[in-house]
Amino acid sequence: MTITPLMPVYPRSPVRPVRGEGAYLYGEQGEKYLDFASGIAVNLLGHGHPHLTKKIQDQAATLMHVSNMYGSPQGEHFAQRIVDNSFADTVFFTNSGAEAVECAIKTARRYQFANGHPERTKLISFSAAFHGRTLGTISATASEKMREGFEPLLPGFEVVEFDNLDAADAAVDETTAGFLVEPVQGEGGIRPASNAFMQGLRALCDANGLMLVLDEVQCGYGRTGTYFAYEQYDIEPDILAAAKGIGGGFPLGACLATEEAASGMVVGTHGSTYGGNPLAMAAGEAVLDVILEPGFFEHVREMGDRLRGALEQMLPNHDHLFEGVRGRGLMLGIKMKSDCKPFVLHLREKGLLTVAAADDVVRVLPPLNIEESHIAEFVEGLSAAARDYEAPEA
Ligand SMILES: *Cc1c(COP(=O)(O)O)cnc(C)c1O
Repeated sequence: MTITPLMPVYPRSPVRPVRGEGAYLYGEQGEKYLDFASGIAVNLLGHGHPHLTKKIQDQAATLMHVSNMYGSPQGEHFAQRIVDNSFADTVFFTNSGAEAVECAIKTARRYQFANGHPERTKLISFSAAFHGRTLGTISATASEKMREGFEPLLPGFEVVEFDNLDAADAAVDETTAGFLVEPVQGEGGIRPASNAFMQGLRALCDANGLMLVLDEVQCGYGRTGTYFAYEQYDIEPDILAAAKGIGGGFPLGACLATEEAASGMVVGTHGSTYGGNPLAMAAGEAVLDVILEPGFFEHVREMGDRLRGALEQMLPNHDHLFEGVRGRGLMLGIKMKSDCKPFVLHLREKGLLTVAAADDVVRVLPPLNIEESHIAEFVEGLSAAARDYEAPEA
């Protein structure tokens, strides 16, 4: 037997965290890491946040799970708060990002079906996108790595070039249900769409009766400095998938929709056993309590500007390694001149956690409640790591 008890689909790293405190993680031997990965944009409030921890503890002791067959005062309350703070009129809770995207895809198709267009089943998605690992969500991407060996995938998807409005326009035909797009691509390398592109997609949807479906699983929930990233594009979607930060580390996702867009989602059309159970709702409410405090998003923007500014100053000192920095708020990417993975490993050895994306982009995704001291520590560490880094021979 050589297979590991944990199915070996991840290249496990020597970092083996057993405890977390704020922006720091601690390994089995007490090694300390500055966590600017946040479980891939999940731990919005860092580790062990007292309000989040307390709410989860209290709810676990009160009522952890009941079936969605019953009324959910906890779900109603949390959904109402999301509705009050976003474009949405209604919310479906899931356990993960991929399930939130699945619900978004189903809602879009079902809208067309319920409104006299059962032939409109195709979602147009974009190059370098990431929407999750279910059969549906890998069908919406062009990535060979994610698709190979899992075919046949679902029909009803077409992938065109990201941020190219003409390509999106040209792909619309009588079978199109809508667009599925990340306003800021995460796994694809921290690439924000342009205003013209996002506003153009909105206009195409309005002109053709299509659904604009946003995947804000990574870029939403305060990460880019507003509750959702679409706010910065002066548009509103019809449907939106959220997850990652929404539970601050508790597995939770959500599919948000307008009343119109959800018009096909009637009793019996969708469901989830765990989705939105009282424990998950308590985690979600606790995160929302904190991020809706006055000044929180401002803090994210301010820290984002500072971090970006510090990186912009430091990176040119190592211009054989780095091309530059991009992104929004505290969703930043450092573009390297070669494969970033060995450098991300080198940073780990120095006690700095980041995430590789799209081969050559180091993702910097700190908790949203970091302070200036964390930024200084990160940038100093990064600079020192760059000084003694020797890129492996290509
Ligand atoms: C992480 C991610 C997903 C999938 O979320 P899971 O919780 O891993 O299923 C979907 N879309 C985007 C943009 C993501 O970053």
